[in-house]
Amino acid sequence: MHSECLFCKIIKGQIPAEKVYEDEMVFAFSDIKPAAPLHILIIPKEHIPSLAHVLPSQQQLLGHIQLVASKIAKLYPQTKNGFRLVANSGKDAGQTVFHLHYHLLAGRDFGWPPG
Ligand code: 5GP
Ligand code: ZN
Repeated sequence: MHSECLFCKIIKGQIPAEKVYEDEMVFAFSDIKPAAPLHILIIPKEHIPSLAHVLPSQQQLLGHIQLVASKIAKLYPQTKNGFRLVANSGKDAGQTVFHLHYHLLAGRDFGWPPG
């Protein structure tokens, strides 16, 4: 836990968030500024700054996050025609919060390539 990290504070309940899922390894909540009809953030409880910082010992955690994303996606009707899972890593990718997070987005046509 990093005392100055926004998402660590959300996990600890120090900053309110609309929780959608929690288990021993991950926490998921609605994005405060949704970029799609469904926009959920899935984060590890362990503070990891980005995908550029992950270690081989975190392989199980990383796989678990994708399984959780799939499970959460199935709960929402907005995903019936598909969904997108995005991890912005670093400044050029648009990462603004440096606690690893995956955006689960659905409910509109996202297009490709991304912006
Ligand atoms: P990034 O730009 O780092 O990939 O994504 C950070 C995301 O966190 C953004 O989509 C932003 O809207 C969301 N966010 C920033 N601050 C808060 C907050 O205090 N609460 C919630 N629920 N989401 C936040
Ligand atoms: Zn953190």
